[in-house]
Amino acid sequence: MTAPAGDLVVEAIDLRRYYRVRRGLWRDAATVHAVDGISFALRAGKTLAVVGESGSGKSTLARLVTLIELPTAGTLRLVGLDPVGADRATRRQLRRSVQMVFQDPYGSLNPRRKVGAILEEPLRINTPMTGGERRDRSLAMLAAVGLRPEHYNRYPHMFSGGQRQRIAIGRALMLNPRLVVADEPVSALDISIQAQVLNLMMDLQEQFNLAYLFISHDLSVVRHIADEVLVMYLGRPVEHGVKSLVFERPRHPYTIALLAATPHVEHGARGRSAHIRGELPSPLNPPSGCVFHGRCPHADERCRREVPEFREVDGRRVACHHTERIGTPIAAGNA
Ligand code: SF4
Repeated sequence: MTAPAGDLVVEAIDLRRYYRVRRGLWRDAATVHAVDGISFALRAGKTLAVVGESGSGKSTLARLVTLIELPTAGTLRLVGLDPVGADRATRRQLRRSVQMVFQDPYGSLNPRRKVGAILEEPLRINTPMTGGERRDRSLAMLAAVGLRPEHYNRYPHMFSGGQRQRIAIGRALMLNPRLVVADEPVSALDISIQAQVLNLMMDLQEQFNLAYLFISHDLSVVRHIADEVLVMYLGRPVEHGVKSLVFERPRHPYTIALLAATPHVEHGARGRSAHIRGELPSPLNPPSGCVFHGRCPHADERCRREVPEFREVDGRRVACHHTERIGTPIAAGNA
């Protein structure tokens, strides 16, 4: 069942996920703040892109929203319900309404099962549908994702990477979810195929009124699909706003650096990794003050001392003491 346009599908308020880890044989356990104070609201038909380098906490956030893990603190509501306090039946129902698409279309499909069986498996497990009804639904889904009826009886290895990702997307939609969490869904694909799969996802979003939480390290991909962008750094939010503002007038030095290193996917350029000086600090020993200060060209004594508030500036939220002084340079990616 599809939701009316504009319905709130996910609400996250100050979401946190901490882990206790041992630092070595003789040392005390430390707490890693993998997700640390993330808030957002995501409506049906909209895409929130979560961006950041590997280790920024975006995949942990995906695991919280898909209920693979529960938050340490904060509030999470899916289609208006609280999965943390819910009974088993409600949590099961919520799990069906949230589906995931993974990065690797090779690894996420069972190589020993035909495409028809792969698509029908969620229906077999979760619904009382007959074999004929399941077959009809999977043939309709094959058409919806741009594949043909004869593909029903083929094995995953007989498809290209882009076709396999179409199958994975189709499987994710078999139970009529309200939310799809897509974790780097095109980053394993050839650059020429990426735009096709993104366009398919956008078509399906419109057709089924889906909400997307789109996890990516690649801003050229995000530019294509997002309505809003949330930039994360070491588990924290550093900038969050509508795509046009974040891309055209970035305010956080980290967003500015990411954009400066990002080519346009539609220009057919190969993805480059962001050239931001230094390495992401260890989450076991995060920097004092602003966690970005060791890599920020604008850092001063206050940055090393004081954690910046995540505050409203110029129509979006940004965590930087000096954003007014830094201004809003046009990112190189927009040139
Ligand atoms: Fe850079 Fe300071 Fe802003 Fe952090 S608070 S992003 S270190 S200027």
